[in-house]
Amino acid sequence: MAASLGQPRERVVRAVTWLSEQGLVEVRASDVRQRYARRVPAPDLGALAAELSARFARREAGEIGRVRDMAALVTHAGCQTAFLVRHFREELPGPCGHCTFCETGEATAFPPPPPRPPVASLLATPEVTALLSDRPPALLHPRKLALFLCGLSSPALVRARLTRHPLFGAAAGYPFAQVMEGCAALPTPPPTPR
Ligand SMILES: [Zn+2]
Repeated sequence: MAASLGQPRERVVRAVTWLSEQGLVEVRASDVRQRYARRVPAPDLGALAAELSARFARREAGEIGRVRDMAALVTHAGCQTAFLVRHFREELPGPCGHCTFCETGEATAFPPPPPRPPVASLLATPEVTALLSDRPPALLHPRKLALFLCGLSSPALVRARLTRHPLFGAAAGYPFAQVMEGCAALPTPPPTPR
């Protein structure tokens, strides 16, 4: 917006903030959306898809790793500050004395996950069975179906208006890997000719 109006970004931000304060617009922060431009007229689509897929998988694994690292820090049975600085290859001379562990002498434990039926039984409900019998193209791939059931939006789901479907997010309380495993075990319907 700043570039097309030829105005400083700060001015645009102030204007949007003002509009929001007046109740004229609703401002919501959202994640950065990566955009790509095609620069090669006739790319090798297979190779390109494989490369992008590998790149996204690496990124996903990295993000999951970061969340795991955070969980390990929170639940660490020892000085958390020392644990954190060790991550950056530094050493504390001793316990910091002010982190949660140093203050309480106890490691933080996450509450156990609430009891819930196995993913397979969720996938066997009449609602899901009905959806699967007429599986929309946007949900054909097990991964897409798992994203849908976990309530994780994607441009394809939005385009297919599936983010408003009652089953969108039906498995939101389950770990994604479990839902993915359950979806991968489902029989894949034959592709419908379009
Ligand atoms: Zn400490």
